[in-house]
Amino acid sequence: MISFKLKSHLTDWLGSQKKLSKKIGFVPTMGALHQGHISLVQESQKENDLTVCSIFVNPTQFNQAEDLKNYPRTLEKDFELLLKAGCDAVFIPEVAEVYSDSLDYAFPLGSVAELMEGKHRPGHFSGVLNVLKRLFDIVQPQRSYFGQKDFQQCLVVKKLLAHYGWPIDLRICPIVREADGLAMSSRNQLLDSNARAQAPFIYQTLSALPVKMSSGSPAELEQWAQSRFAEHPAFELEYFEIANADTLERIGSWHDAENIVACVAARLGKVRLIDNVLLK
Ligand code: AMP
Repeated sequence: MISFKLKSHLTDWLGSQKKLSKKIGFVPTMGALHQGHISLVQESQKENDLTVCSIFVNPTQFNQAEDLKNYPRTLEKDFELLLKAGCDAVFIPEVAEVYSDSLDYAFPLGSVAELMEGKHRPGHFSGVLNVLKRLFDIVQPQRSYFGQKDFQQCLVVKKLLAHYGWPIDLRICPIVREADGLAMSSRNQLLDSNARAQAPFIYQTLSALPVKMSSGSPAELEQWAQSRFAEHPAFELEYFEIANADTLERIGSWHDAENIVACVAARLGKVRLIDNVLLK
């Protein structure tokens, strides 16, 4: 596995590979890697000649300084995991290397960036958009791999690709979970043992929804889930919404959208966790 800190070195190497008609798969991450990230690397390996993974804790997508400061950084272990997974190249730039200009890329993202995470983490998607614009400009992959875990982010990436007309195939991969259902996340390692024991409650709530769909409306199921969280002593719920999976707008009935998703964000102590399930 080759590692690059400078974009010029990475683009030189990519240029030589593209001349050989190698297809590039790209997996952007913020590190503190786990099996969820590795599943994206593995999917890329199946579909491309070479897989490039980036590890970059993007400061512009954090709306709280404390969250950025506490974000787990485990570079040595990340390298081991990527090496073991057979990743071909890793890009680990400094902040100034990625943000070498002071441009602020912005265009209307609409409802997919304004609701849920957009409401609760102001500026977050602007940061996501600005880092991905730069990373895609550097790597120019044929395919890029994202996790359904960050459902809303996937919709934002779709908009970004459409806006710039890049011929990059967006591949969305399923959520990898721990044995007890907790969605794998870099932030899980910030949970103490008590909180970790409570954390599966999120997926337990989400996974009860499909059975309940036949006996209640979207609003009734939202209320049911919200009151479960309200009664739980350890969680502070930010949102629990059942929405059109293409626009994230609320739905009145199960027939209102072709694709439906339930999304949740909740704080467990100081750790903010998100999860989702597709209901239709
Ligand atoms: P992050 O490092 O948190 O920015 O995540 C990098 C990529 O890995 C994103 O596309 C995430 O959606 C994806 N990812 C994170 N957790 C999981 C998971 N549990 N299963 C699948 N993909 C994931």
